[in-house]
Amino acid sequence: MTPDEFRAYGHRLIDFIADYRATIATRPVRATTEPGAIRAQLPTEPPADAESFDAVLTDLNTILLPGLTHWQHPRFFGYFPSNAELASVLGDFLSTGLGQLGLNWQSSPALTELEELACDWMRQMVGLSGAWSGVIQDTASTSTLLALLCARERATHFSLVRGGLQGEPKPLVVYVSTQSHSSVEKAALLAGFGRDNVRAVPVDDAFAMRPDALEAAIRADLDAGKVPCAVVATTGTTASTALDPMGTIAEIAARHRIWVHVDAAMAGSAMILPECRGMWAGIEGADSLVLNPHKWLGAVFDCSLFYVRDTEHLIRVMSTSPSYLRTQADGKAPNYRDWGIALGRRFRALKLWCLIRAEGVSGLQARLRRDIANAAWLAEQVSRTPNWRVVAPVPLQTVCLVHEPPGLSGDALDAHTRDWAERVNASGAAYLTPAVLAGRWIVRVSVGSITTERADVEAAWNAMRSAAERGNS
Ligand code: PLP
Repeated sequence: MTPDEFRAYGHRLIDFIADYRATIATRPVRATTEPGAIRAQLPTEPPADAESFDAVLTDLNTILLPGLTHWQHPRFFGYFPSNAELASVLGDFLSTGLGQLGLNWQSSPALTELEELACDWMRQMVGLSGAWSGVIQDTASTSTLLALLCARERATHFSLVRGGLQGEPKPLVVYVSTQSHSSVEKAALLAGFGRDNVRAVPVDDAFAMRPDALEAAIRADLDAGKVPCAVVATTGTTASTALDPMGTIAEIAARHRIWVHVDAAMAGSAMILPECRGMWAGIEGADSLVLNPHKWLGAVFDCSLFYVRDTEHLIRVMSTSPSYLRTQADGKAPNYRDWGIALGRRFRALKLWCLIRAEGVSGLQARLRRDIANAAWLAEQVSRTPNWRVVAPVPLQTVCLVHEPPGLSGDALDAHTRDWAERVNASGAAYLTPAVLAGRWIVRVSVGSITTERADVEAAWNAMRSAAERGNS
């Protein structure tokens, strides 16, 4: 494609995306397609000869679009908000169009320095002290893996350069909670701790990690000759946005010299609100943390910020220095390849920088406050309505609820919950995620799409009542 063709098709593509966003509310939220239906409409073999880009645009409209679940829809209440704010989308276009690759500072000085700046802006925005330095990763899953690799190497005084974990005389243990995201256990397994050495610490009635149970688990492991290595605390768990008591956990960890990693993937964005910062009080006692601007904040996926206090340690764990990557600038500016797993890095800072500049801190704060108020409104409606119950505290934007008709309990109640949620989702009126909390099926309503206003929450609530109370779809 020539630059002139790119200009012409690019304009059409921007129009297409703008129209899509402008009319998104008229579409059913969930994709209306059956498994395999998209592939069945596309040729199984690649084209032998060049095709016109017009043909690609036609397929985009007729085949791919019906196969989308609309994450940017104002009545998308599933999983978590994964907002792609449009200024941030432009930043991502730029990143792709400029085709930059950050291998070291010299391979793209602007990429490196804007990343330093954007991470530091976010550090200030969420109220972290200047002791933290950040880097952009693809996902929280990667960031948590990095954290556990750092923890492992600190506890073993660099097992990497000896026999790895297999050379260690005593097993190392990682503490998570029963509510930790699945990526945490996955990271622990990938970092070589072994399933037998991952402790799921019990939670309290608010689904937060119990510090007394953490302390007891650590003591039991010490008595068994094991080495407590890391604890992963969550600020805003996936199921219910529960808040692990950071301060107490950090105190316990300090006593046993355990690495503290904080998973604030979803709720970290809320720390731009001074009134929410009490939710992670004690954060300065942690060693590392992850927060995903690609969730609620609005930076288009993927943009996960990984912060550490000891950058020298991170670099020692991650660094590689083959001759072809060394430059005269080494030592004068960061080489972010040494702050993570990937060598080649995208210019991700652009989308975060564009987002923050286009909305301003006050604009971002106003949007998040709106969402928190909308969730509180929904929780109040649920609490006031007979046979409905809010099943977990609502500190932020996620409401976990059940409809409990008289006489229904146990498996029959679970079946009812999953059934009415599926009917809401199938209707296209809203999109919700059922999940298991404390052993029972509940429905999570995750408020926070950029375009979600009170009227959309009201519409979703009406659709829920209609499906659950009257069996409508
Ligand atoms: N941690 C928490 C608390 C989450 O809610 C999620 C996503 O749902 C993740 C981690 C995983 O995020 P990512 O997709 O960036 O790996």
